Amino acid sequence: MCGIIGYVGNRNGSDVVINGLKKLEYRGYDSWGVAVKGNPSISIQKQVGKISDFKDVGSFPSDGIAIGHTRWATNGKVTKENSHPHTCCTGKIAVVHNGIIENYQELKKELVSHTFSSETDTEIISHLIEENMDSGLGFEDSVRAAITRLDGRFAVVAVCTSSDKVVAARKGSPLVIGVGDCAHEGEFFVASDIPAFLEYTNKVVFLEDGDVAIIHDGIRYSDFYGKRVERLPTEISWGVEQAELNGHEHYMIKEILEQKDTIRMAITQEEDRIMRVADMINRSFGTFFIGCGTAGKVGSIGSYLFSSIAGKHVNCVVGSEFPNYHDFLTDKTLIVCISQSGETADTLEAIEVAKKKGCKVVSIVNVMGSTMMRMSDDYIMCNSGPEKAVCSTKVTTAQIAILMKLAYACAGRLDEGNRFLSSVSTKVEIMLDDKYLENVQFLAKRIAGHESMYIIGRSHNYPVALEGAIKMQEVPYIHAEGFAGGELKHGPIALIQNGTPCIALVANDDVKKDTIINALEIKSRGGFIIGIAPENNEVFDFWVPVPDVGLASPIVNIIPMQLLSYFTALERKCDPDKPRNLAKSVTVK
Ligand code: GLU
Repeated sequence: MCGIIGYVGNRNGSDVVINGLKKLEYRGYDSWGVAVKGNPSISIQKQVGKISDFKDVGSFPSDGIAIGHTRWATNGKVTKENSHPHTCCTGKIAVVHNGIIENYQELKKELVSHTFSSETDTEIISHLIEENMDSGLGFEDSVRAAITRLDGRFAVVAVCTSSDKVVAARKGSPLVIGVGDCAHEGEFFVASDIPAFLEYTNKVVFLEDGDVAIIHDGIRYSDFYGKRVERLPTEISWGVEQAELNGHEHYMIKEILEQKDTIRMAITQEEDRIMRVADMINRSFGTFFIGCGTAGKVGSIGSYLFSSIAGKHVNCVVGSEFPNYHDFLTDKTLIVCISQSGETADTLEAIEVAKKKGCKVVSIVNVMGSTMMRMSDDYIMCNSGPEKAVCSTKVTTAQIAILMKLAYACAGRLDEGNRFLSSVSTKVEIMLDDKYLENVQFLAKRIAGHESMYIIGRSHNYPVALEGAIKMQEVPYIHAEGFAGGELKHGPIALIQNGTPCIALVANDDVKKDTIINALEIKSRGGFIIGIAPENNEVFDFWVPVPDVGLASPIVNIIPMQLLSYFTALERKCDPDKPRNLAKSVTVK
C-alpha cells in the first residue's frame, strides 16, 4: 500500500513523478504529494484525494529531481498535514515512505528538540536524517544511519537541498529501480512498482531487503552499513499498453474480459517447472496453501481441487494466521504462497516464519521480481499482465487454473489436465460475449437497491461463495456473506427476508442436488434466488448460465460474480477501480 516514486534525470521531474503517481494510484488514494528539489529549497505540494483528479502541474518547478507519494493511511488521519512527503524541522530534507515504522513513538521521545508537524510514523525518518546531518554526517550516511534505527517494514526515498543525490532504501516493502534507456543515459527512476515508469524504460533492478540505492548521475548500491553490493538490471516484458485502459471505462471490466486470454496464458508454463513443483508437493510431509483475501479463497479452492484430482490433502491457511501454525512446521513442510503482487505483507511474514523452521517455499505470483518470488525456492508466474483494479479478477482465475494444473501434475496426469484446462479457456472465451454481459447487467439493476445478500455453494464452490461475497463487499459495498450450503440452517437462514437476493453456485457435481435443496429452503422463506449454474432450474428466479466444465466450475462460477460486482458498483455509483478504504498490494500488516 502507498505508492512511492523518485526521479533523477533531464526530464521535468514533477511531470514524471505526477505521471508515475497516477499509475501507482491503485496502491493508495487517500492523498498524494510531490517534492521537487530546487536550490536553496525543496518545493512541496500535497493534496487530500486522488491524484487522478488533479490536472494542473503548472505550479511545480521543473527541476530534474523529484519524489512523490500516493498514500493509504496507516498512522494518522487522511489530512494534508499527514500526506507525504514529510520534511525535517528546516524543510531541507524530504522523505516519502511505504510501510509502518513500528518503533516511531520510542524514537520520537529521543528527538525532543525537533518540531513535528504530522501524526505519521514517517516523519520520524526525516528528523532522524536531520539529526545525523547536524552531527556532521553527509546526506547518504545520514540516511543509512537513520534507517538502521527503524523497526518494521519500509521503502523510503529521501532528498536533501545540500545534495544532488536521491537515496532510496528498502526492508520489507517493494522498491524497483528503472534505468534510463540509451537515449536518456544517466536517467533513473525509483518506484514501488514497475508501471510507474514503464513508459520510459523496461530495464529494472529489483532492490533486495537491506539495499540502499544512491542515485546521482549514476547509481550505486550498498547495504544499510555502506558496504557496496552489485545489482544488475533485467529487462521485463510487460508492454505499456497492457497497463492502460485501452478504450475500457475501468480497469476492472478490462481485466474481467481479459480472462478470455489469461487462463490460457496461465496454463502455458514450462513443463519442467510444473513437474518440479508437483514433485515438491508430492514429497512434502504437509503442504500449506497460503494467501490473503481473494488469494486465500483461491487456496481453499485449490485444497478441494487437490483432494479430487490428486487425492492429496493440502491445508489452506490465511497469511495473517499462518504464524500461529509454527508448531506444526518441520523441514519437510512445503508452503505454497499465492499472491497477485508477491508483496502481501502477511504472506511474506508467513514465509519468514516457515523459513525459520526450514520449510520449503513455492510462490504463485503475477509480478516478476517480487519479494515473494525471490524469497521462494521455486515460483510459478501467473502470466496475466499487470492487474490494476484493486479487486483481483483475472489473476484469481489464473491462479485457480495453475493450482488445477499442479494437481493434475501431482496425479501424474498432466497431459490430461492441459487438454482439459485448454478446453475450459476456450469456453470462457465464448462465454464472455456482449449478450452475456447484458444479462448480468440486468441482474445488477435488479439487486442494486439491496443492502444485504447471501451466496451459497458446496464443495469446490463453497470457497467460490466466500470469494463472491468479497467481490460484492469490496466494490459495490453490499453486505454480502458466503456460506456452505449445509451451514444455512445452522444460523444464516434466519437472515432471509422477503426479496433478499441469494445466489446459489451450482455445478454438475455430486453436491448439485443438495445445493438446489438449499436454494429451495431459502426460496420458501421469501429469498430471491439467483442461480449461477450450467442448467436452469425451476427454483431459480434468475438464471446466469455458465459452461459445464466439471471440476473447473470455480473458474466459470467466479466470473459472473466478478461481473455482478462490477455492474452493481456502477448502478450504486461506486468507483470499481478504487473502492473506498482499500488499496491493492497490501504491503502493511
Ligand atoms: N505509515 C505511513 C503513513 O501512514 C505509510 C503508509 C503505507 O505505506 O501504507 O502515512
